[in-house]
Amino acid sequence: MNYTDLPTPAFLVDRSRVQQNCDRMRAKAQRSNVAFRPHVKTHKTVEIAKMQHGGAIGPVTVSTIAEAEFLASAGFSDITYAVPIAPQHLGRAAELGARLDRLNVLIDSETALDAMEARHLADGATFDVFLKIDCGYHRAGVDPKRTESFALARRMAASCAVRFRGLLTHAGHSYNATNIDDVIRIAAEEVSAVSGFWRKLELGGITGLIRSVGSTPTASVVERFDGCDEVRPGNYVFYDAFQQAMGSCRSDEVAVSVLATVIGSYPERKQAIVDAGALALSKDAGAIQLDARCGYGTVCSLDLEPLPMRLVALSQEHGKVECTGAVPPVGTRLRIMPNHSCLTAAMFDRYHVIDGDEVTDEWRPARGW
Ligand code: PLP
Repeated sequence: MNYTDLPTPAFLVDRSRVQQNCDRMRAKAQRSNVAFRPHVKTHKTVEIAKMQHGGAIGPVTVSTIAEAEFLASAGFSDITYAVPIAPQHLGRAAELGARLDRLNVLIDSETALDAMEARHLADGATFDVFLKIDCGYHRAGVDPKRTESFALARRMAASCAVRFRGLLTHAGHSYNATNIDDVIRIAAEEVSAVSGFWRKLELGGITGLIRSVGSTPTASVVERFDGCDEVRPGNYVFYDAFQQAMGSCRSDEVAVSVLATVIGSYPERKQAIVDAGALALSKDAGAIQLDARCGYGTVCSLDLEPLPMRLVALSQEHGKVECTGAVPPVGTRLRIMPNHSCLTAAMFDRYHVIDGDEVTDEWRPARGW
């Protein structure tokens, strides 16, 4: 089937672009001699998780236990759940961990360690654990400069409930950068935050820890990965309009688009309405630090040429497009490059895989938590 015959809105995944993005990042990790544990949160599919490892099963990072369970049932056996674990999920994590070669979980508080120790006392469960380090994003993680962080690490190293595996950080603040030099600086901070703390722990006798880093902007702009043991980028499989605006990728590396249909045409007010609203595109604002008028995605022709149109508003099922040139008539098909492919992909329960103009496959992502 030609993709233009699909009912809209439809999430299109260009297989050869995904393949190229996967191959390039994997090759960079191999060249740098670091372990590759790509994140799967962007796509949440078995098919792309395998593409990230050159067609094989390999170590992965997930953002929900549902993703971990989904990939485990497809044979993935070495998984890091890279969100601080809620105490009520410890039972589910212990159950899954017992079926896998390795399930690493993440903590950044004494309270989370208390919960693991209580669980260990109750039923003997033990956990493979990374300590989350804040490298400047200020979302989750301990401040590596604080003495309390060192004390928590010491407690983890001594605890019977956990096997202390490593230090993990994510430079999410790279998404606020305004130019490549900023991203390169943040990439260096990401590595130095984790490596500095790692050295302090080594001097304190806590050795053998893995230093795990990764975000798509930082991983895309550095020539090679230095000063770490493992990298975990995720968004790079698809990229998106945000990454393109920041310079993490070129427009011809963006592997996904939402196929939409014009359902309203209003030349008198220079506007059109498409059938892709917030429930198809998500409502991510995009790289507004670079272009406050970027809108909710890049409106393109079917051959992915950006059009003189701006997606200015989204309601649940409507997208409002302002047109500088001709207003397209009802029935026109457009492709919208999403601002944030992770969130847009999560709106769809199936992806239409295209090779050229042909729909050659349909992939189903994991859903829920
Ligand atoms: N690691 C962690 C802990 C994350 O939260 C994320 C993304 O949110 C990643 C890695 C991957 O980052 P990106 O999506 O920028 O590749």
